[in-house]
This record gives sequence, C-alpha cells and structure tokens, in this order.
Amino acid sequence: MSNFRFLALEKTISRPIGEVKYPSRKVSDYYGSMVFNKTVMREYLTDEAFDMVEKSIDKGERIERKIVDQIATAMKAWALNNGVTHYTHWFHPLTGSTAEKHDAFINPADGGKALEDFQGSALIQQEPDASSFPSGGIRNTFEARGYTAWDPTSPAFILEHTLCIPTIFISYTGESLDYKTPLLRSMKALDDIASQVCRYFEKDVKKVYPTLGWEQEYFLVDSALYAARPDLMLTGKTVFGHSSAKDQQLSDHYFGTINIRALAFMQDLEIESHKLGIPLKTRHNEVAPGQFECAPVYEEANIAVDHNQLLMHLMDKVARRHHFKVLLHEKPYAGVNGSGKHNNWSLATDTGINLLSPGKSRKDNFRFIAILVNILKAVHNNEELIRASVASEGNDLRLGANEAPPAIISVFIGEQITRTLHEIEKMPSKKSFSNSNNNKETEINIPKIPEILFDNTDRNRTSPFAFTGNKFEFRAVGSTANTAKPMFVLNTIMADQLIQFKADVDKQITEGIKKDDAIFNVIKRYIKESKDIRFEGNSYGDEWIIEAKKRGLSNNRKTPEALLAFISKKTIDLFKRMNVMSETELKARFEIKLEKYIKKLQIESRVMGDLAINHILPTAIQYQNRLIENARGLKEVLDSKSFVKLSRNQLNTIKEISDHIASIKEMSIQMLEARKKANRVTDTFEQANAYKENVLVYFDKIRYHVDKLELLVDDELWPLPKYRELLFIK
Ligand code: ADP
Ligand code: MG
Repeated sequence: MSNFRFLALEKTISRPIGEVKYPSRKVSDYYGSMVFNKTVMREYLTDEAFDMVEKSIDKGERIERKIVDQIATAMKAWALNNGVTHYTHWFHPLTGSTAEKHDAFINPADGGKALEDFQGSALIQQEPDASSFPSGGIRNTFEARGYTAWDPTSPAFILEHTLCIPTIFISYTGESLDYKTPLLRSMKALDDIASQVCRYFEKDVKKVYPTLGWEQEYFLVDSALYAARPDLMLTGKTVFGHSSAKDQQLSDHYFGTINIRALAFMQDLEIESHKLGIPLKTRHNEVAPGQFECAPVYEEANIAVDHNQLLMHLMDKVARRHHFKVLLHEKPYAGVNGSGKHNNWSLATDTGINLLSPGKSRKDNFRFIAILVNILKAVHNNEELIRASVASEGNDLRLGANEAPPAIISVFIGEQITRTLHEIEKMPSKKSFSNSNNNKETEINIPKIPEILFDNTDRNRTSPFAFTGNKFEFRAVGSTANTAKPMFVLNTIMADQLIQFKADVDKQITEGIKKDDAIFNVIKRYIKESKDIRFEGNSYGDEWIIEAKKRGLSNNRKTPEALLAFISKKTIDLFKRMNVMSETELKARFEIKLEKYIKKLQIESRVMGDLAINHILPTAIQYQNRLIENARGLKEVLDSKSFVKLSRNQLNTIKEISDHIASIKEMSIQMLEARKKANRVTDTFEQANAYKENVLVYFDKIRYHVDKLELLVDDELWPLPKYRELLFIK
C-alpha cells in the first residue's frame, strides 16, 4: 500500500517508548537549577546588590544603574558556568506565543581572540527590529523600533544554552505591544488599592498580589499521523473526520491509567519543567481519548503566566523526542471534548494570607466575605469584558458546546456561601453578624465556613467562574491562550471595584458610622446589586440561556461581537482610570484580535478547500469508478433481470457518492467566492463579520459531506488518518 496514511500508521505501530533520562538526583536537588533565582543570586551577588534586587522584586523599587551592572556580571558568570553561549530578551508579543532574538556573549578581542561580554545595558533594554510583530497600527513600519525592557520580578532562566531574560515589549512611543506590560500594570493597580482595603482588617498588610494556578489541557498525537494530516499541521485542528465508533462514550479515559508512551512524555516534560522552576504537580488523563492535563502549584500571577508560556514551548520540544505532536487547539477534534486552561485565581498578602480562604475566626470570615462580595460585584459589572478576555476563533468552538461553560459569564459560589450571603442580606446590622454565634435565633454559618468548605464536594463543573474553596476557577479560558489576558482583566476590574468599595466605606465612616458597620452596610448593598451574576444551576442547559437574558447578562457567542467589549467607552474609561491601558492600546488589541480571527478562518477555509478538492474528491471519484467498473462487469455477466436486482446497491452508492461530490464541489466554490468577497472588505470588524457570516457557515456543511464520504469510500483508498487512528495512542 502506498497510501500515505498507511505508511504513517505503520510507523506508529512500532514506536519505541521514549527513554526518560531521570537525573540521578532527587527532584529537589535539580529543581530550579536552570533559574537565576534568589539562591543563585545570594551566591553570585554582593549583599548590597542582593538586597536591592529583593526590594525590587518585593516592593517594585527601581534598581540603581551600578547595581544593574553587577547583576549582569553575576548573570553572565552563572550562565557561563552552565554552558551558556547566548542571551536573549524573552517576551510575549501579541502573536500569542513568545519571542526571542539571540545574541552571543562573545566580543572579538586582541590577538584574534574573543571575550565573553554582557553589560548592564544589554540586560536592561534592547531594541529588536520588531516591525513584523502585530501592533494593531500603533507602529508604522518606518518607526519600527520597539523596546524590550527587563522585568526583574520574573527570574532569568537557561533554555537550550541560552540565557533568557523575561522582558516587557513596548513601542517607541511607550505603548505596550505585549501581554506582560498590562499584566504588571494591573498588578500594581490592584496592589495599590487592595493593600489599603486589607488594612481595614489586617494592619500589617503592605502588599497584595494575585495568584494563578493554571490547568493546561492538551492532546497528544503521533507525529507520523500528524504529518499525514495537512489540516492538523496548518490549523492545529482536523477540519474533516467522521467520529470514531468508540471515543469518549464510556468515560474510560478520564483519570484512567496513563498510556506508557504518554507517561514517558509527561515525565520528560516534568524533568525539564522542574529544572526551570515550573512547579508541575499534577498529571492525568482527560475526558477525550488522547487528551491529558497538567497543573502546577500556583504562583504569583506574573511568574505563573511566564511559566505557562514556557511550558507550552517545552511541551512542543519534549514531544518531538517521543514522536508526538502536542495539540493545544481548543477543539482539535469534532465530537469529543476540546481543551481549556482553567485559571485558578486568588489574592494573597505579603503577610501570608490567602484572601479567598475563609478564616478560622469571625474576623477572618468578615474579611473573606468582603473580598468575595467585591469579586461578585466586579464580575457583575464587567461580565462582557471577562467574556472578551477569552475570545478566540478556537475558543468559540468550545464555549457553549457541552464540555465547556457557555459564553455567558456567571459565578458559582456553592450552597454554603449562598446561604451566608442570604443571611447577611436579611441582617439588620454588623452587630448581628458578630453576635450570630451567640444567638440561636439568627445563627448563621459564618464561623463554620472553614470546615464546611474544605469538605465541599458539590462543585459545579458547568460554571465558567466558580468558587472552589479558596480561589476562583475561571474555566472559560482556551487552551492556547496567554493567561496574562484573563489575568489583567480580572486584576483591573477588581482594583476598580475595590476603589469604589473603599470610597463607599470611607464615606460612611466620615458620616460617623463605625468602620465595621460601614463595611457591613456596603457589603450588604453589593450582595443585592450583584445578585444577577450568581447562578448555581446547570450552565450548560438551555433554560439558563433564557434566564440569563432576562437578567440582562450578555451572551456573545462569537469572537467579533465578544471583542467589542474591549473598545466600549466603559472599558476604555476603566483601563485609563486604572492606568493599565490607553485607548490606543485597547483599540490596537481589538484590531489585532480581529485580524487574527480573520486570518485563522481564512487559513482554515483554504485548507478545507484544498483538502476537499485535491484529496477527498479524487479519492471519491476513484472509488466511484471502481463501482462503475463493477456495475459494468455485472451487466456483462448477468441477465438483465438479475442485473437490475443485484446492482441496485452499487448504483445507489454511485449516486450517493455523486451527490456528495457535487455538494462538496459546489460549496467549495461558493466558499471561495465568499472568501474573495470578504477579503475586499476594508473595515476590520466588518471583515471579521463577513468571515463569520459568509465563510465560516460553509465549514460544517462541507464537512458533513466529506465525513459521509469517509463512510462510503473503501478504507484502503482513504487518504487521511481517521479519528480512530488519531485519537488512540499506540
Ligand atoms: P481541579 O481539577 O479539581 O480543579 P487541580 O488540582 O487540577 O484541581 O487544580 C487546582 C489548581 O488550583 C492548581 O493549579 C493549583 O495550583 C491551583 N490553586 C490552588 N490554590 C490556589 C490559590 N490560592 N490561588 C491560585 N491557584 C490556586
Ligand atoms: Mg480544575
């Protein structure tokens, strides 16, 4: 058989299990060995320099120039000791991946020799010729300069003999061209106000920072099969493929025993991750065959975001060693679960408190409820923006399908807290809150929250934004996403909300109301005002769509309309107020996201047309010819009565195939015309809509006929690896 599909299949059958070379030491011995972390800095830096870096990391203080030189020298020494030859500024441009341009340490020296050189100036700032990165019109190409600038709060690391320095990326005129800049700004805005609010409850709090623990879902597919699927290679997903007779119906993959080849990949990935200080902790099978998940211990949000970006890179690299390809697309296969990236988000203080952890004392619980209610209020006020923060072409295929939360944002808090909020609403004053435990009549469960919550098993898996005991789990994030975006949106809306909260409380205090009573009154009001965002029921159900509409919640199902929330006056004012992004920056991002949406659909449509016309139709015709040949033969050997009787099936199949061929051909041409027309639209938003309304609509229709053909045509002729082959790892 010369069919490429069979050659690929043959390769997969005899794959050796990839060897995993565990270092001979314990994980704790090599953990973080490729990171310029505090332990290394203490060793390589003077006390003075070390103190300054620590202050910069913890308090955001600027590092003096002469100290920067010392740090650069130390970094170089450490890097050279670890076999490093190059350095790079490592950043997150708006393409969604990471970028790097490597420079060697060496400088020519006398006598035909060279010396390793790395100055503070090279650490602090670089000017990559960045004209080809998306800027949404901020930077014309003749003004191509963009700066990358060192982010001392995320440690440098060594990857492939290269010293990688996490940086922000901004334009010559100061606008952010990346994900990290708004994230850092949002963290500052949040810290400024949250630490003040915290001091209502805890006097010693000086800093509040968001924490993020992501859960990364992904598929593994054998690299030979991947290479035999042009759609996977070019779009990251399959555009055709009939479902496998068996896939996830029996729920036998979820949390099942991990396939030994997949396990070897995971172990290898963990070793690489741990060396880079990524605290991967959990690994398991996900719902669909071939689907898996990994999750780290949570970290400060900026570091967690960098670590997720780095992890996605490592996954790809490590997978090669195991003859796998990692599919990060939100919906690589129709009919089985897609992949997400749950973002577990909380707020922590420098005094070691998780602000979303219900405390043991009534005082702690009061603080906990105050923060929680402010989050409810923030989400309620900004649900559309939160939806926009996870909008992408891939995620549109997941949100609202039956494995992911819908495009409607709501919050789940569980029965206990719902009851608590209900009680508070009914209470006349803070006094009853405090006395609640002594008074049997009005007893509420606040002091008991810790025990109950830690045992909370009735988690609602259908909610896009669920409280899960000590953090919120934002489940609508797509598996390819840069987590900085949902993070900076959450931080920013929370900062804004807390400013409002403080103003509301302080106003009452100036009116002579005691602090605790003032806080109580405001919380009580917020609980009422934000009620509509709370939903404890089944978010996947159709009734919720109707109910949500009644409540005035948005349901922006597709990316173009969802993105509009990024440029609404409300959002522009919000981001300006919080000093996170300017109108120009927001509009640029809106443009870039739309362009990405358009291009993704354009590519997918082209791939679909190409596969349909050049792979599927010729195969179908070849098979059809065989049937025609066969019918002709039957006619020759049979009398006409028997022929009519016996050839009915063949003739029907020939006709069925002809119908599918005709439909595919016709619709491919129509889709091409629609694309041409859409390409002529000049306004980006209109163009995205044209793609959505007039091109995207053909995808499922063409696919229907191709998938039907897959069932009719001889398996031996079919050119593309089938779902049953792709989904199950051999
Ligand atoms: P599940 O699948 O049940 O949601 P996992 O163990 O897969 O649970 O993931 C839980 C995630 O929540 C982990 O990434 C973990 O680090 C994260 N997490 C736990 N506590 C916090 C917190 N305080 N802030 C942010 N993330 C947290
Ligand atoms: Mg989870």
